[in-house]
Amino acid sequence: MTEVTPITPPAQAQILAQALPYIRKYHGKTMVIKYGGNAMTDPALQQAFAEDVVLLKLVGINPVVVHGGGPQIEGLLKRLGKKGEFIQGMRVTDAETMEVVEWVLAGEVQQDIVGLINQAGGKAVGLTGRDGAMIRAQKLKMLDSADPSKEHDVGQVGDIVSIDPSVVKALQDDAFIPVVSPIGFGENNESYNINADVVAAKLATVLKAEKLLMLTNISGVLNKAGELLTDLTARRIDELFTDGTISGGMLPKISGALDAAKSGVNAVHIIDGRVPHVLLLEILTEQAFGTMIRSH
Ligand code: ADP
Ligand code: MG
Repeated sequence: MTEVTPITPPAQAQILAQALPYIRKYHGKTMVIKYGGNAMTDPALQQAFAEDVVLLKLVGINPVVVHGGGPQIEGLLKRLGKKGEFIQGMRVTDAETMEVVEWVLAGEVQQDIVGLINQAGGKAVGLTGRDGAMIRAQKLKMLDSADPSKEHDVGQVGDIVSIDPSVVKALQDDAFIPVVSPIGFGENNESYNINADVVAAKLATVLKAEKLLMLTNISGVLNKAGELLTDLTARRIDELFTDGTISGGMLPKISGALDAAKSGVNAVHIIDGRVPHVLLLEILTEQAFGTMIRSH
């Protein structure tokens, strides 16, 4: 557990009372949380994350967790003597890699998160996009970002065709906390590896979520000088894409975040998963962490 400075009872009471307006505002609302980066690999941060999710549920907010698993997939691929390759932030996924992705995401990472949340006193249920026929996907057509006449073959990387959120809604109504692995299925029941940020963003849209919170392994979106950009509009994002400030895993994250903001998700934030209890701080206090993405 992280060390906390002792606080006096009056200060503690004040802190708790300050959460009231936020609890009232968000009661009954859905919040989609993309869980990734360091928050997912550090045991103390894992526990703090699970506690936050349970607390949110207990005060009447409906958290839906979508998890990534890049480092864990990388770890198993390495043990199998395979090297991961990325094009424009997406993992090149041949058939063997797809098997590894499914084992790691649905078998290991998802079940670890379910276990952590349950241990913290919640009732989590793990799902992949196959469960409840939730995430229909097709092979991603990836055009080269510099030369759109060129196409990259990234294998079984999926593009979302549609999301049917009814299984998530049914679980929410029953006090469960859904934990979703970013795997979709195609017309012939084939599996697709979908970037977790893209799934979280689309799920937030179809669930008409109040907030989309993307936990990552960095303080937020940084400019070329390495300074945190606390607020980003669609126009500024275009500029950052064009001048190459945004690269790698930040590409699908920001595209997804912007899509969600444009499609009616009220608040979209990319936040620092290295901060203990960042979810509580972001949702139930005045403090803001990381980068807020705005549609205009
Ligand atoms: P996750 O999806 O688990 O949060 P990713 O590695 O996929 O993590 O995406 C986050 C990474 O994106 C950062 O660690 C950083 O290396 C990279 N990145 C690229 N451009 C930027 C940028 N402008 N600001 C912040 N991070 C960036
Ligand atoms: Mg990523």
